[in-house]
Amino acid sequence: MKVTNKHNVPETLVSLARTDYYSKGGADYSVTEIISPPRIQRLRAKHWNDMEQDVSDMLWQLLGSALHVVAERGNHPDYITEERLNAEIDGVRLSGAIDIQRITPDGILITDYKFTSAWALRQDKPDWEAQQNIYAWLVNKSKGKQVVGVQICALIRDWSRREASVKADYPQAPIQVIDLPLWPLNQTETYIRDRIDAHRNSKVAADWEDELPLCTPDDRWVRGDAWAVMLKGRKRASKVFDREQDAKNFVRTLDVNTGPYIEKRPGEPIRCANDFCGVARWCSQYQASLKGEDE
Ligand code: SF4
Repeated sequence: MKVTNKHNVPETLVSLARTDYYSKGGADYSVTEIISPPRIQRLRAKHWNDMEQDVSDMLWQLLGSALHVVAERGNHPDYITEERLNAEIDGVRLSGAIDIQRITPDGILITDYKFTSAWALRQDKPDWEAQQNIYAWLVNKSKGKQVVGVQICALIRDWSRREASVKADYPQAPIQVIDLPLWPLNQTETYIRDRIDAHRNSKVAADWEDELPLCTPDDRWVRGDAWAVMLKGRKRASKVFDREQDAKNFVRTLDVNTGPYIEKRPGEPIRCANDFCGVARWCSQYQASLKGEDE
């Protein structure tokens, strides 16, 4: 993949962006790899040499790498930081690097750092849950230790003190620790086997793109329709609602002289529309959906 520098940022940052920190530690699959959609993985492998990203669009990726370095420095006797673990399942070697393991008298508590937005934090995150549970499985298999919990330490990059003061469902601080459900080990093993199968099958299908598995709505980060309450002469929405009825109720509370009206904002697959997967231009599924030919 070519990393460009359209905004003339210091070359040191560009060189960091060009460094590939991604590692499977000699394993067949990494945890990040198996939880990500097979379609994205295969299209990225196929078009890697044609992909291009500007360093200015890689800010959060770079800060994510920086955070792991900083986190490693925070020594504490009860914590293990940045440990890479490996384990085998049905002859396949799986590897994952865990940000933090806290050693408690009852077992290990796993925590992973995530940079995210305030909006994303309020959505379901099935991939976070799956990732942390695979880490729990790795800890159990490779160290024989019991895991007592899995959690995320979310760092909210667009956090607003003002929003926090007016919205009850808005994160109340820029850092949030969120407990995730801990799966039974046999459930995690079934999930791992299913994901490895999906990735193996997609490798076989890679030459025939039409046979690649489709990304699911969760994979595509589909955001549902929204209803924005607008005021006459203003460009920004006064408030945006997930349900039309809530928008109508809000309009009734407003002064009619402000000219309130409701604007429907159709939902969209955020990951495809913003090319967060990096392969939207080559993806027949997304290109078909743009023409209204959803498969
Ligand atoms: S463009 Fe959308 S559907 Fe296609 S690979 Fe990317 S996320 Fe999946």
